[in-house]
Amino acid sequence: MNNQNGVYLGLAPALRLRLAELTRLCSPWFTVIANCGVRSMAEQARLFRQSRTKIEINAKKQSLTDRGFPTLAAVIDAVGPQDGVIGLHMTKSAPGESWHQYGLAVDCVPLVNGKPMWDEEHESWEIYKEAAYMVGLSWAGDWKHYKEISHVQVPEVRNPLTHYKTIKAVEEALAFNVWE
Ligand SMILES: [Zn+2]
Repeated sequence: MNNQNGVYLGLAPALRLRLAELTRLCSPWFTVIANCGVRSMAEQARLFRQSRTKIEINAKKQSLTDRGFPTLAAVIDAVGPQDGVIGLHMTKSAPGESWHQYGLAVDCVPLVNGKPMWDEEHESWEIYKEAAYMVGLSWAGDWKHYKEISHVQVPEVRNPLTHYKTIKAVEEALAFNVWE
């Protein structure tokens, strides 16, 4: 497993081990390239904002605050004021709501004949899926809402905030470099 652009930096050991095994299982067919590991709070907030209206953004900020996560709502503010149709819909998650902030999720792509394979119908994705399940990862290609074929994560639970419940527990679980 090589360290492409620091993607492996900050990944939790539970994910690193599974990713190494996933890579090994796929290696007879293709190289697994990890292209997004730990995503910072600010980056997650920017991705969240770029495809949402002011109304949707404000609703999310309010909901985070109401549930006891005002510091996460503040991140959405801090990267503003952009909103709306400036970017693609890249994520369903606000900062803290993605396992990428906890070092427990990674996005990969098969490298086929030296090129990243983005055709979802290509057989390499079926091999990737099988290997992900074999090593005990959840594969987002099977999710009904916001399906994402490149995304694998350790926890079964979709939203970390539902899992951790309090800001204290969230703070303790976050990957070390997530505020940078
Ligand atoms: Zn992902």
